[in-house]
Amino acid sequence: MRQRIAVVGGGPAGLTFARVLHHHDHPVTVLERDPAPDARPPGGTLDLHEGMGQLALAKAGLLAEFQALSRPEGQAMRILDVDGTVLRDWPARPDDRAHPEIDRGQLRDLLLGPLDVQWGRGVAEVVPGTGDGVLVRFADGREETFDLVVGADGAWSRVRRAVSPATPHYTGITLVETSLDDVDTRHPGLARLVGDGSVAVYGVNRAFVAQRNSGGHVKVYAQFRAPLDWHAGLDWADAEAVRSSLLTLYDGWTAPVLDFLHHGTAFVHRPLYVLPVAHTWAHVPGVTLLGDAAHLMPPLGVGANLAMLGGAELAEAIAAAPGELDETVRAFEERLWARAARWGQMATAGLERLVSPDPGEALALFDEVQPS
Ligand SMILES: Cc1cc2nc3c(=O)[nH]c(=O)nc-3n(C[C@H](O)[C@H](O)[C@H](O)COP(=O)(O)OP(=O)(O)OC[C@H]3O[C@@H](n4cnc5c(N)ncnc54)[C@H](O)[C@@H]3O)c2cc1C
Repeated sequence: MRQRIAVVGGGPAGLTFARVLHHHDHPVTVLERDPAPDARPPGGTLDLHEGMGQLALAKAGLLAEFQALSRPEGQAMRILDVDGTVLRDWPARPDDRAHPEIDRGQLRDLLLGPLDVQWGRGVAEVVPGTGDGVLVRFADGREETFDLVVGADGAWSRVRRAVSPATPHYTGITLVETSLDDVDTRHPGLARLVGDGSVAVYGVNRAFVAQRNSGGHVKVYAQFRAPLDWHAGLDWADAEAVRSSLLTLYDGWTAPVLDFLHHGTAFVHRPLYVLPVAHTWAHVPGVTLLGDAAHLMPPLGVGANLAMLGGAELAEAIAAAPGELDETVRAFEERLWARAARWGQMATAGLERLVSPDPGEALALFDEVQPS
């Protein structure tokens, strides 16, 4: 008999998990809090690595479609100093499949495909160990029971509480996101600077990244060390007040950085939180975690990749041995923890170097990881 499997969360982790199970004709219930796929802006672009996000898509039978949609040219990267001097300029090779970019919205739609997601089903609580399995209690008070509940509900996971007392803590680094549209026609100078990929500027305890998405859209990330309450008194609905506060933070930086901030719209505040590196939990039959719910780490280009790879591997293992659900989940958790701890250490050390009192550290980090 096939088990009743639910995944909570329709982000990269949950959708990849569900899509790989679907690929193996295994039923799965996807429970997502958002009322619809486009209920909120999907966020910026993601680079999917060959042995991680792309491997996960291959396990779902979606690699060819990804290759048609993704942007290998988005791997281009330029680094400036705060005076505007170009320090590094890595063009992208069109045949380089190492980690092409894809818009999050495009990735979501690719993964959604034929999946029958239950939208608007926010989970409030998960209670393991009831006579009939794991009880899922929804925000609207309804209840349902499953044999396995997979928590893929992100940083502030409700499912995590059923297995672990861990909660995310602030890294000391905040990110403010903004974006520009139609850059090639409206801001051609900035469009040329960002090129097909990204431009980054590193200063003392501050960083600035502008990244091209598809359709002439550019996402801008201002990152800086600050106490959690740095914005006390700032009204996030007042874009001009936020802009002016960012312009003060980046005062004296090269003109294009200030131009990006001048033209950016819709500022989003994202203080960076992380779970403890090497977060594990005592195995609880019937409940497990995937993605940011399990291993929230600084955004250094691996979180979604790990989320998708974990989702694909768990789904594949369940489909291969449907009668051994608990053993399968136990073995998967061991692998997940070991891999997440390795990447978590790297991402944590990386963030410290990217937003550092010594901007030379950021450059040195790129020199270590970029192909020469
Ligand atoms: C600025 C930024 C840039 C990044 N860039 C990259 C990158 O280039 N490459 C990369 O690999 N990673 C990147 N990351 C990290 C990446 O975004 C995350 O690691 C990834 O989204 C995690 O996927 P997830 O599915 O685990 O969680 P999420 O993407 O957070 O998805 C969780 C889902 O669960 C739903 N949900 C939440 N609570 C409930 C509930 N109670 N009930 C039901 N549903 C619920 C949410 O609505 C959401 O749809 C970046 C992160 C940031 C902040």
